[in-house]
Amino acid sequence: MPKRPSKHLRPPRPLSSSHAGAVDKADGRWMIQTMPATSATKQYRCPGCERMIPLGTSHVVVWPLVPSLPYSKAVDERRHWHTSCWNRRR
Ligand SMILES: [Zn+2]
Repeated sequence: MPKRPSKHLRPPRPLSSSHAGAVDKADGRWMIQTMPATSATKQYRCPGCERMIPLGTSHVVVWPLVPSLPYSKAVDERRHWHTSCWNRRR
């Protein structure tokens, strides 16, 4: 019988070849993408501290790997976080 590596030992395949990656938090798995300062041309409110992320500030964009509502698209649930606020989140 040929040797096969266990599927459980292999890392999950990324959904796309972009810079997005998956991260596990207490409430599930999230996709996370870094928004460089040069691309931060809109202001967003950070859900972690309820404060605005200033223009031109490098931050992170996250969205749930599995949409919270059955008929919504995960990308519609994208949220912009201060990098430090996201890192503090569990
Ligand atoms: Zn924040």
